[in-house]
Amino acid sequence: MAQTLTAVRGMNDLLPQDSPKWQLIEHTLRSLSASFGYDEIRFPLVEKTELFCRSIGEGTDIVEKEMYTFTDLNGESLTLRPEGTAPCCRAVIEHGLAYNQVQKVWYQGPVFRHERPQKGRYRQFHQFGVEAFGMAGAMVDAELIVMTAALWRQLGIQSALSLEINTLGDKDARSAYRNVLIEYFSAHEDKLDEDSKRRLHKNPLRILDSKNKDMQTLIESAPKLIEHISEECKAHFDSVCAHLTAHGINYTVNPRLVRGLDYYNRTVFEWVTDKLGAQGTVCAGGRYDGLIEELGGRATPAVGFALGIERLLLVVDAVNPRYFDAAIPLDCYVICEDSDSESVAALAESHLRAQSFAVKTDCSGASFKAQFKRAVASGARTALVISQDTRTEQKYSLKYLTEKKDAFIGSLDECIDQIKQA
Ligand code: ATP
Ligand code: MG
Repeated sequence: MAQTLTAVRGMNDLLPQDSPKWQLIEHTLRSLSASFGYDEIRFPLVEKTELFCRSIGEGTDIVEKEMYTFTDLNGESLTLRPEGTAPCCRAVIEHGLAYNQVQKVWYQGPVFRHERPQKGRYRQFHQFGVEAFGMAGAMVDAELIVMTAALWRQLGIQSALSLEINTLGDKDARSAYRNVLIEYFSAHEDKLDEDSKRRLHKNPLRILDSKNKDMQTLIESAPKLIEHISEECKAHFDSVCAHLTAHGINYTVNPRLVRGLDYYNRTVFEWVTDKLGAQGTVCAGGRYDGLIEELGGRATPAVGFALGIERLLLVVDAVNPRYFDAAIPLDCYVICEDSDSESVAALAESHLRAQSFAVKTDCSGASFKAQFKRAVASGARTALVISQDTRTEQKYSLKYLTEKKDAFIGSLDECIDQIKQA
């Protein structure tokens, strides 16, 4: 027998039994975006490698060790997108979408990072992201956070998520702070792990983000960025905080929150949970006012966030699995007791679909018992059984699968009325 092939490690199939959950979440994300006035944008899965090196930054985990990069047949270096913000900006610049206007967009789809696969961490995963261009004020920073908070409420998981925010100031403050940090960590170089030693001169802010327990005391006592930022940036941050308070959104200011990508300035935020072990960040974002210009566009303020759909599903599963009850839209499962009933069943199912019911017909010719078992497992609300009685007396039998109720026997129209009420 030929050897079977398996999927690439860390890249998952979405199986039919799980797809209703994904569709439900995706539907929720779409209607959330629409209700905040954001339009969908789609960009390719593959971009020129340089786009990510220039935007995310050379000294970051993503660019240093997580990208799927290859040379195509023309000898060009291409990369499977490891995130959406950079491609989104590329598209916005290329099509002039942020020129002299404001633009609010969302996107969704797979991203690729070569990481060590574990629960909540995969090599192909899915992000839903939102980006807002052309607005410099704090109101839109807050709007994105309000949007995510509304999402947690809709999913019934608000109690499991908490908001951490910080400000990174502007470029000048960051470079001044960078030097202060290099000086501080150099004085304690013996306490740094290998990763941090490597980052010391390349990207010292990332040391603050280290999860290494042995370094936590050192990191706690490091000088704080907030002491180096301008009055203007501070006022912006205060204004974001005031908006959040006005919306009744609780938050913690975490001075160590720096985010893993280089393009951020001013506001950064993360929604974290204790339900997913080490993979605790469900959603992360911030302002990136310099990126569009760095990528060759006209200076345009911008802010956005991205959330991991797999992690979001894990949180909903852990905290509010009832949310997924609505994920099975099947109204009726049609069962034929014998092969002579098949043509009657075919007519009945067309009739049901014409009334906008979602119907699944068992075409297997298996025993009634086997078909009924599958009907129950399908999650359908009802089963319509076509048998000899149907053929001779026009009587259909309707069984209720999700509630305790005696079967109903009647004409097709009477059964349809019953399904409507079920
Ligand atoms: P982490 O610190 O967990 O590595 P990150 O800072 O690299 O996350 P971002 O680049 O901000 O993550 O991506 C936004 C969101 O995408 C994360 O908050 C998370 O929900 C999700 N995410 C990131 N990496 C992965 C992954 N390898 N597998 C699944 N989801 C991921
Ligand atoms: Mg990461």
